[in-house]
Amino acid sequence: MILIDEPMSKHTTFGVGGPADVYIAPSSTEELAQVVKACRKLGVPYFILGRGSDLLVSDAGYRGVMIATEGLAGMEADGCDLVCESGVTLKDAAYKACELGLAGLEFASGIPGSVGGACFMNAGAYDGCMADVLLSVDVLTPEGAVQTLGVDELELGYRASRIRNEGLVVLKARMRLTPGDSQGIREKIEDLTRRREEKQPLEYGSAGSTFKRPEGYFAGKLIMDSGLKGYTVGGASVSQKHAGFVINKGNATASDVRAVIAHVQDEVERQFGVRLETEVLFIGW
Ligand SMILES: Cc1cc2nc3c(=O)[nH]c(=O)nc-3n(C[C@H](O)[C@H](O)[C@H](O)COP(=O)(O)OP(=O)(O)OC[C@H]3O[C@@H](n4cnc5c(N)ncnc54)[C@H](O)[C@@H]3O)c2cc1C
Repeated sequence: MILIDEPMSKHTTFGVGGPADVYIAPSSTEELAQVVKACRKLGVPYFILGRGSDLLVSDAGYRGVMIATEGLAGMEADGCDLVCESGVTLKDAAYKACELGLAGLEFASGIPGSVGGACFMNAGAYDGCMADVLLSVDVLTPEGAVQTLGVDELELGYRASRIRNEGLVVLKARMRLTPGDSQGIREKIEDLTRRREEKQPLEYGSAGSTFKRPEGYFAGKLIMDSGLKGYTVGGASVSQKHAGFVINKGNATASDVRAVIAHVQDEVERQFGVRLETEVLFIGW
């Protein structure tokens, strides 16, 4: 699929963001590699888009090619391993594992990202993160080579990875899970889903926790203690339900969201001397 001037508000969970010049969703990992190669050959900027669940794309949009992994949705079981193409959603992967009676991916079932984005971020929640389940990933290097990297070679840390540092593109990931019983796995997924629904403002657009957890603190608590719950610019607010989330109340622009983020950073620093760093990535600013 190739689209021109495609609004990024349609492809991000914040529901904001202007047009990408070109939006391409390859239907195979080989095609994805070819698109990356073509962009590099022509010197055209490109960006690998997962599910857009950790991105704030500017109102002006993105000048270049958005290469979306949404079409790379292949998934297969191999003994206790689940092998997923990078565009598979974590939810689909977690439910597939459950159906196969494989435990370990329950933590990921409520993270609205793709397997590729989760490897990039070492996404995690509750009692798990990608580093706990990944065995290896197939990546495309900036030079165009395909390599298999073991989990120990990925330098996974808190929202950190070699994939992120070196501009690698995840093509496939192999996760090693453990035999379990489907019923128990499903109950755990349902329990985690309930806990998310209770605590998080899932009825609004957002990118989840806007800020990284600062050493020794909780971002949400600092924001709440700064009196910023409900702080609003245009259509963007600090959530009343969970102060760590900046939400789109329906008609926000990317600039509104950015203004809320900047005010929160300044105000928390003024009151507590802690500068919050964003987990959300800014694209096209
Ligand atoms: C309601 C909500 C709840 C959330 N809860 C959590 C949570 O509990 N834990 C958590 O960790 N995160 C959470 N998030 C944030 C987000 O879902 C994760 O960071 C997720 O891993 C991002 O994946 P994505 O596919 O959406 O990536 P995107 O947002 O599309 O991209 C993020 C980065 O990953 C890169 N990327 C994407 N795919 C690839 C690939 N194939 N190869 C190389 N790089 C790639 C992109 O280039 C970009 O730099 C939440 C978000 C929301 C909206």
